[in-house]
Amino acid sequence: LGAKEEIRHKTLATDVMRPQRSDPPLSVLTQSRMTVEEVERLIADTTYSGFPVVISQQSQRLVGFVLRRDLVISLENARRYQEGVVSVSAVLFTECDPPASPSAPPAVKLRSILDLSPFTVTAHTPMEIVVDIFRKLGLRQCLVIQNGRLLGIITKKDILKHMAQMANRDPESILFN
Ligand code: ADP
Repeated sequence: LGAKEEIRHKTLATDVMRPQRSDPPLSVLTQSRMTVEEVERLIADTTYSGFPVVISQQSQRLVGFVLRRDLVISLENARRYQEGVVSVSAVLFTECDPPASPSAPPAVKLRSILDLSPFTVTAHTPMEIVVDIFRKLGLRQCLVIQNGRLLGIITKKDILKHMAQMANRDPESILFN
């Protein structure tokens, strides 16, 4: 292959990230527009290890990343120990509370479990570089952004699968040897 072909065939973050065209959309949380019940349903309906948090479904602007296990524990604790929390209580990842009606039930504030600087790459970052970053920083996942919008996620397993496909070898042996 000449240099031109190599560039043309280079795998990019967008080729490996989820969702791909046939996948269901990315499961995200919004920073202030979801209820306890809605977040619990998302947890029950999926098995993902974590969820990106965005400003709104419409903007898909990234706020941070929250681990599933932290979310589960925090919601359980809020249900059990926080006075007045009910299914329709708001779940807030915001710094300041948005205006709420005086009759609204108390909100569950989860800013403290939010990773505010999850690692991100652009959709056109070559996978070579993404793999290098995963190795060097020991990442478990990385988010893919384009023009300020969240597009997808790449997990360590996605990378291992991708590399195994490329090399047709045992995936664990590639990343760690
Ligand atoms: P792993 O890749 O280690 O199994 P996950 O269970 O978190 O980790 O992810 C399973 C698959 O779903 C991966 O291909 C990943 O890219 C994708 N994924 C992870 N989180 C989400 C999410 N919030 N929404 C949609 N897909 C996701």
